[in-house]
Amino acid sequence: MIIAIDGTLASGKGTIARRLSRWFGLAYMDTGQLYRATGVAALKAGADLSDAKSLAAVATSLDLNDFEAAELRTAEAGQAASKVAAIPAVRAALLEVQRAFAEQPGGAILDGRDIGTVVCPNADVKLWVDASVEVRAKRRWDELRAKGESLTLDNMLAQLRERDTRDKSRSDAPMIAAADAVLIDTTDLSIDAAVDKARAAVEAVIARKS
Ligand code: C5P
Repeated sequence: MIIAIDGTLASGKGTIARRLSRWFGLAYMDTGQLYRATGVAALKAGADLSDAKSLAAVATSLDLNDFEAAELRTAEAGQAASKVAAIPAVRAALLEVQRAFAEQPGGAILDGRDIGTVVCPNADVKLWVDASVEVRAKRRWDELRAKGESLTLDNMLAQLRERDTRDKSRSDAPMIAAADAVLIDTTDLSIDAAVDKARAAVEAVIARKS
């Protein structure tokens, strides 16, 4: 079984994906890490974030073991990720590794922005997770402040809006809900309630298919 979970930044999709992976016993890939690692590697190498050729080379030779988890979670890494993610050659370089992961025996859960539309269009279950931009900005702001990053809530809100716009408007694999995705709005939901909803959606699809 393949479960594709897409949605906006800080919508709760990562937490939902991790909990579902434990519940259903499926391997899990956070595909945002691939784009974050590409962005961070490019920054470290002093590469121009719009130079498609050198960024594709960075993406092709990526090894996630070369990165500390914390360096991939910063706001700067997220911004760099969203810039390199708009480059088709980078997306092409990262596509095969995601597809290979999805097709492993035993099934998998992947979360990202284009899993249900591009990476795994034939996924058994597709979820689209979203929440209001204000609620998402507050969640992400709390998370980053707890890690010692100093930025204002207004700044966070502006960054999120910029990321959303860039992710939605890029020509290659824009962030969009698959037509057959189940929508989960987490604006007014606790994380437990959101996970319950997601699990119920998966179980309903499984029941329908069997
Ligand atoms: O989910 P996360 O915030 O880690 O993703 C960072 C960035 O990577 C996103 O803003 C998006 O631009 C890009 N991304 C993508 N496709 C994916 C996963 C992430 O374009 N499947």
